[in-house]
Amino acid sequence: MLYLVSVPIGNLGDITARAREVLESADLVACEDTRTSGRLFGLLGLRARKLTPYHEHNAEKARPKLIARLMRGEAVALVSDAGTPLISDPGYKLARDCRAQGIPMTAVPGANALLPAVQLSGLPTDAFYFGGFLPDKSAARRRALQAVQSLPATLVFYESPNRLIAALEDIAAVLGDRTAAVARELTKKFEEVRRAPVSELVGYYKESGAPKGEIVIVIDRGAQAAWTEDAVGDLIRRMLRTHSARDTAALVGAATGLPRKHIYKQVLDAAGHEP
Ligand code: SAM
Repeated sequence: MLYLVSVPIGNLGDITARAREVLESADLVACEDTRTSGRLFGLLGLRARKLTPYHEHNAEKARPKLIARLMRGEAVALVSDAGTPLISDPGYKLARDCRAQGIPMTAVPGANALLPAVQLSGLPTDAFYFGGFLPDKSAARRRALQAVQSLPATLVFYESPNRLIAALEDIAAVLGDRTAAVARELTKKFEEVRRAPVSELVGYYKESGAPKGEIVIVIDRGAQAAWTEDAVGDLIRRMLRTHSARDTAALVGAATGLPRKHIYKQVLDAAGHEP
């Protein structure tokens, strides 16, 4: 069985009892860096049996070997340097292949940087989009931001301190001056969440210098775009495929907030009826 085991992102107290049990009893623990995990296990007082590297540079070669051991019935645990494996960390292809081969798999959940950042941001939590790391280069970063600018969701990105100011500048340029939170050093001694309009955050960090430590950026959703004539027409045509003209007018009116009379005329035009 493959165990996807979360480990702390800073605070050692965040290791779970189940993670301890699985890591100590697994035949093999695959990790990004055997020295980093070895050190962490030492601090946690864990006696893991055997550590083996599994990272982006050796994954193609290492994966078939891990799969072979799993097929023999061994218990393999996968951890990353910190937090939850597969979340902006290696492991997705291993999980994909296990699923394809019918190898049993389970997650041992625990710490990650994503959820505490969303919780502590003070921004709406009903829907959020996690974009992993934004691209390094500004042009690609702006394209990535354009792709999500209309999402009706809080946006979350991992970022490194030396790219923070440039990323915030691109966020302001593409998404506008939304409220955002920079969550830093989560679960650690110097945990900090700074929340302000993006332009203020840019000003603050330009003055104080790029912060140290690990960072998550959380951004408020934009105001809902106004309904254009084309968008309303498109919605009407789609609704008419499965609804009567009367129901379409009522539903589109409710969705857009536009006057019912105005909608009804468009519905009849689209349905090919005389008003
Ligand atoms: N797998 C990890 C998880 O579950 O969150 C994330 C790994 S990713 C390679 C590392 C990034 O996660 C960092 O660059 C930072 O953006 C974020 N991160 C990790 N630990 C953090 C912490 N203690 N505080 C804030 N962000 C953190």
